[in-house]
Parts: sequence; C-alpha cells; structure tokens
Amino acid sequence: MVRTRRLGAWGFEGESYEPSPALLDWLAGRLGPAAPLPRAAPGSITLPAPGRLPPLGAPASAEAHDRLAHARGQGLPDLLRLRAERIAAAPDAVVRPADDRETAAVLAACAAAGVTVVPWGGGTSVTGGVNAPGGDRPAIALDLERLAGLGALDERSGLATFGAGTFGPALEAALAERGFTLGHFPQSFQLSTLGGWIATRSSGQESLGYGSVAEMVAGVTLVAPGGRLDLPALPASAAGPDLRAVVLGSEGRLGVVTRATVRVRGRRPPLRATGTLVPSWEAGLDAARAILRAGVPLTLLRISDEAETEVGVTLTLKAHRIAGAAARAWLSIRGVPEHPCIVLAGAPADRAGARALDEAGAALREHGGVGAGDRPGRRWLADRFRHPYLRDALLDRGIAVETVETAAPWSRLQALTREVRAAIEGALGAEGERGAVLCHLSHAYRDGASLYFTFFFRCPADPDRAVSRWAALKRAATEAIVRGGGTVSHHHGVGAFHAPWLAREIGADGVRVIAAAAAALDPAGVMNPRVLLDPVDRLER
Ligand SMILES: Cc1cc2nc3c(=O)[nH]c(=O)nc-3n(C[C@H](O)[C@H](O)[C@H](O)COP(=O)(O)OP(=O)(O)OC[C@H]3O[C@@H](n4cnc5c(N)ncnc54)[C@H](O)[C@@H]3O)c2cc1C
Repeated sequence: MVRTRRLGAWGFEGESYEPSPALLDWLAGRLGPAAPLPRAAPGSITLPAPGRLPPLGAPASAEAHDRLAHARGQGLPDLLRLRAERIAAAPDAVVRPADDRETAAVLAACAAAGVTVVPWGGGTSVTGGVNAPGGDRPAIALDLERLAGLGALDERSGLATFGAGTFGPALEAALAERGFTLGHFPQSFQLSTLGGWIATRSSGQESLGYGSVAEMVAGVTLVAPGGRLDLPALPASAAGPDLRAVVLGSEGRLGVVTRATVRVRGRRPPLRATGTLVPSWEAGLDAARAILRAGVPLTLLRISDEAETEVGVTLTLKAHRIAGAAARAWLSIRGVPEHPCIVLAGAPADRAGARALDEAGAALREHGGVGAGDRPGRRWLADRFRHPYLRDALLDRGIAVETVETAAPWSRLQALTREVRAAIEGALGAEGERGAVLCHLSHAYRDGASLYFTFFFRCPADPDRAVSRWAALKRAATEAIVRGGGTVSHHHGVGAFHAPWLAREIGADGVRVIAAAAAALDPAGVMNPRVLLDPVDRLER
C-alpha cells in the first residue's frame, strides 16, 4: 500500500494521535485556554512562480505540489508557516538523480549556473536544514529517493552498503531478510533516510547499545561540485585525519552523500523496556551514571523528570481513577514521593537482555527506585513513532510543542536542566505567558548524557506572532544551553537555526576549517549555503 505523506504536518494521511482529555485538562491548567489553529488545505497555498533553470542533466519537476512538499522541513516554524499558507520561498524545481553520474552532472550544472542545491532525504530536519533559501538565486531541492536500496551485504564482515535515499523501514526490512539489523531508530525513523542520518550525525533511541550513526558508518561516498570523496569501509585507519568524520554532520554543505557502507549486527529479539520510579531527577541521573560506569549492556536508558513523568504516567493513572488510587497507595507504602521520575531501561528480550535489565534494576533500587513493571515500557514502545502526530493534534487546538536538545558532562547536567528550564520559562514570562517544560535524559555516555526538553505554549493565531514567540523561546533556550556548557545540538544538527551559535562551541577557527572544506569541495558555494556556516539569525524567516 502506498501511503501519502501529509503536507505541513507529520506523517501519513489517515494517521493521527489525539491528546487524551486528561492531557488537555493538564495543559489548560498550566497554559490557560487556547484558541484553535486551523490548517490550510495544501491546494490553497500560492507559491512564488518558479524561476528559469538551465538544463540539469536529470529529470526536474516544477509541479506546484512537489515544490511545496520540498519547501520546508518539520521544525515548528515550518509547520506554522505551512499551516498559515505563508510560504515565502520554495525550490524552483525538485530534481531526482538516479545515480552518482546524474548527481555529479546536476551539481556541475548548478555550480556553473549559480543554482543553489538543497539535498533532501526525508525532509524531517527540525533545524531549517532543508528549507528553500529564497533570495535572488534560483534553487533546487535534490531529492535522493531514487538512490535507495541495499547494494551489497558482506555478511562475514557485517557490512551493508545502501543508497543514501533509503528510508529507515526499508533499510531495516532489507537487513531483516538476511538476519541483520543496523539498530538506528530515531523517532523520525519512518520518514528519515540513511543520507539524512549521516548528514546530521543522528542518534537513535537505542544508541546506548548500537551507538550513534557516526559509529555505524564504515565507508561513505560524497559527490560534490568540486570533487568526490570515496572513503572505503575499513575497520579502523590511521591514515591521517578521519574524513568520514568530515562528511558526518556536513548537512549538505559539502556535497551529496550518495551511498554508505554501515556496520550491521545479527538481529536480536525486539526491545523489552521496564519502568522504575525513582524519587527525584537527581537520583535518576546518579543511577544512570552508575549504570554507565558499570558497563551494563542496555540498549535504551531514558529518564523523565518529574513533569514529564506526571504527563506520561500520572495522567494515565488519574484517568483510571480506582487503579490510580490503588497504585498511588502502593507506591507511597514503598516510599515513592508524590512526584517521582520514571526510568525506562531497555534491552533485547533474550537471556542476555534479561541479565542487563536485572543489573540495571539493582542499580536503580540502590538509588531508591521502585519497579513499575513492563507496562510503562510497553506503552512507550507501542507509541514511540506515533508521538510526533500529537504535535499536530495539539497545534490544531492552538497549543505549540517544541523540543530542544543538548549534551553535557555529568557534572553539568543538574545545573543545565535548571538553567534551560528557567530560560524558557523566563522568555514565556516576558511574553506574558505561562508554559510547561518537560525534560528527559535521552542518550547516556560514560562521561555525560543528552538532555531533551519538550515545552508547550499557547500559539498566537497570527503566524508571524506565533513564529516570533517560538523564536524568542528558541533563542533563550539555545543561549542557556551554550552558556551552560552544553553542545548546541546533540543530534538534531546545526542547520540554519543553530548556525549563529556554532562558533561559540567550536571557535572561529573551527568554523574556518569547515569553510575551507566547503571551499575545496564546493568552490562556487552552491551547496546548501544557509546551513552550518551562515551566522545570520534566520529563526523568523
Ligand atoms: C518528529 C521528529 C523526531 C525526530 N527524532 C530524531 C531522533 O530521534 N534522532 C535524531 O537524530 N533526529 C531526529 N529528528 C531530526 C531528523 O529526523 C534527523 O535530523 C534526520 O537525520 C534527518 O534525516 P532526513 O533523511 O529526513 O534528512 P533531511 O531532513 O532531508 O535533511 C537533513 C539535512 O541533511 C542534508 N541531507 C539530507 N540527505 C543528504 C544527503 N544524502 N547528502 C548530503 N546531505 C543530505 C539536508 O540538506 C539537510 O541539511 C527528528 C525530527 C522530527 C521531525
């Protein structure tokens, strides 16, 4: 069955995830009443007329629906603009090369004619990475959907070569047929591609067991207007600086990833996740650090703060009033406070996984944890790829949901959690608004972890005001992250939205090194010029 992607919203037509009445009550109590925000019918959006393009050496579509579908990604301002029919810029054409030769021909033609190229994988960027640049120069979206599929599988070495445009489900299905898995499951899994993962240095939900995409890529091919990198798949190499690492996170600024060879593993049974309630966020972080230090072979470790636990667990219990009261009484006998934090620990459902979960359970108990069984984990697993639909359903009701993420050493995490929350709440207060800020630990390492903040606020009906409220919150949160010693992005990438802060993390000379790589591979400067290196604040574009 061919599923049609929704325009200006997450996912596929016919699918949704509606908020529970308990969640809507909770949000109304915190935010105040919100007014519905209608969504424009895609046919009603008028785009600027397409500019003239030179012959590109591959099929190009200037069809309005195609251009609109490639105008913006999936960041909150993208959804707000599409919802309000305010699309200032769209690509002049969408081009779909069939192979490396066509890709190189398109890039050469664009470089010669000064046409901007925005590589497009699944278009799930939340950092403005695929947004049409606008301005005087013509632009194309280079959609990589035809560079897809399994090319080769070296079973003995555990190496699989895929086209960059292969989507998550197709990649896992091809590997499953041969008894393998990559193990990369970002929340955007269903709509994002291998090339996009590499270009953004993505992390999946089971990164604790499988690593981030940076650890999965053994070899990669980058086709650029000024050359080509064919980096072979090797288990390790000391041949100078690692150029794979230059391609990883290059966000289409250096060229087009056309294929990659990834390290795959034998399939294990599906993930089993168990829940434990710990008395506080601090106790959760301490337990996580202990689990990481002990090297417990979990594939998932996720800790929700008190507010996120209230939304994820307590609201569900409240909805089942009798069971909820019984559960509360049971927990209070065991010393669990009124507002606990839930920890989800996950591992494949086999004997080795069961041992890992036992070890993690023991560490959590040492930090005051009380087992909550498999049910919270089962619910999370069932909904983990459906949650993004909730964002659109809430936006229909005038409630915006945004996320920011970072990573920092363990010694900074407590303070950073407080500072980012305070920054978002302060920026909302300056708007005369109240909001709700939730946080969870989403990826853990020996030396630190990634924090993922979700915040809700009322969305003004006027789209420009809505985007400027979002921009004020985003600036405040990003400033707090960078000031507090966190990375500007743990896994969403830099894109256009974070680019003004990049130099604060890697220094002006660091930015010059990336610019030099771009100048070598893309001397005409046509590759996605608004990402990574453009320090202009474009949040409100
Ligand atoms: C609801 C939601 C949940 C998300 N969850 C996660 C998550 O759990 N983990 C995570 O890491 N990210 C997550 N993201 C962010 C996003 O999905 C990732 O950045 C993903 O890696 C992008 O893949 P894509 O194929 O959609 O790339 P696109 O959005 O199409 O492109 C992203 C960037 O990469 C460039 N690019 C794409 N393909 C290529 C290529 N072949 N060669 C060169 N450049 C290319 C684009 O020009 C752009 O700059 C989420 C996003 C959303 C909307």
